[in-house]
Amino acid sequence: NKQNHPFWQIIHTITDFPKAGIDFYDISPLLYGHVTQLVDELLAALPDGFLDTVGAFATTEARGFVIGSLLAGRTGKPLILIRKAGKLPPPVFSENYTLEYGTDTLQIKANLPKTNVLLVDDVLATGGTLIASKRLCEQAGHGVLGALVLLDLLALHGDIGMPTYSVMTT
Ligand code: 5GP
Repeated sequence: NKQNHPFWQIIHTITDFPKAGIDFYDISPLLYGHVTQLVDELLAALPDGFLDTVGAFATTEARGFVIGSLLAGRTGKPLILIRKAGKLPPPVFSENYTLEYGTDTLQIKANLPKTNVLLVDDVLATGGTLIASKRLCEQAGHGVLGALVLLDLLALHGDIGMPTYSVMTT
């Protein structure tokens, strides 16, 4: 049961961070002594046989990089880094996306082999990051199979336009 997952005993919920009214889910305690189980659970959240269709994992900084690296390390599959504007050297593709206040820009390398990617991140909140990441991958010619997250905050988003898989929900 994703709402009573044992990981709930390990992660921390911090109220009013980073600002008043926001509950912040701190997944970092899972990285201290639970790394193997974390990867086991992420892979177990995918349907049978799904992993065979994944050509690469694609992920956004910063916590997504941790999840993506662990999955790539376990499976031996490639890892595609999606970064905030100005961090990756050219050639890159860019996508603007809306944050709670204002906009931001994500970028992806434009010269990687095209493949079918699974987007991965720690937390799915409004879905803005995954939606922008999907557009970015498509600009770069990749197919997007869906998204895999540790924690899906179901009440904060509607249909984000791709299959989503999660270990925990609330
Ligand atoms: P979204 O774009 O879906 O609104 O937000 C998702 C992004 O913000 C993810 O990259 C995730 O790392 C970060 N994020 C949003 N809320 C939380 C949270 O409560 N805990 C953590 N660890 N990350 C969050």
